[in-house]
Amino acid sequence: MTEVSAIGWTEPQANDHGVSMICGPLASAPRLPSSGPLRPALFLDRDGVVNLDTDFVSTREAFVFQDGIFDLVRDANAADHAVVVVTNQSGIARGLFSEATFHTLTQWMIAVFADNDAPLSRVYYCPFHPAAKVERFRGDHPWRKPAPGMLLAAAADLGLDLARSALVGDRWSDAGAAEAAGLGEIVLVGNRADTETPPPVLPPVTRLPAIKDARARFAARAWRFGPALDVTQHAVKLA
Ligand SMILES: [Mg+2]
Repeated sequence: MTEVSAIGWTEPQANDHGVSMICGPLASAPRLPSSGPLRPALFLDRDGVVNLDTDFVSTREAFVFQDGIFDLVRDANAADHAVVVVTNQSGIARGLFSEATFHTLTQWMIAVFADNDAPLSRVYYCPFHPAAKVERFRGDHPWRKPAPGMLLAAAADLGLDLARSALVGDRWSDAGAAEAAGLGEIVLVGNRADTETPPPVLPPVTRLPAIKDARARFAARAWRFGPALDVTQHAVKLA
């Protein structure tokens, strides 16, 4: 696997799987050559969506892939969706792990997806936090969810049709970013959002118990902007 530089990237870094990561500070990431119509995308949060959220996961040993995540990504690929991970990583700002450690873990994660025939298109992350211990990552940042910066950058870089795109997250900040970016479908999985103070005006989200339920919704082409299908059996409000 290609080694990645530690800190302060100014350009996307491709690895053996042709997937790159882009760091929050980038103001203008180079665009990929594109032609033809805009593609829809499936945006995925990382912690609580790709992997179990056990707080500031930074090692392979602590990184447990959620049941059904490879199936969901495989389905999205088959439906010609770009699959883009968008993740706040305030653990970098808090000094809990280094950006280099995050890069190493992410390159491994990208390889595992590829090995499972479920390749990712790109990973965007935001290492900033307003109360950061690490000074250079202190402050709010337009890429930090609930701001939509990562999604908007991905749309510009990859030629995405945000209105026909969906996000699967687990927190209200994911939903806020998705709504601000104008996504057509917002799904929150699990009960993490129930532990948070919801925003004053709730984004139009679908709450689902688990990734496998999001997969069923996607496999049925049941996103709001897709062909109309009755999927109310999947749309459960969690207690
Ligand atoms: Mg999360």
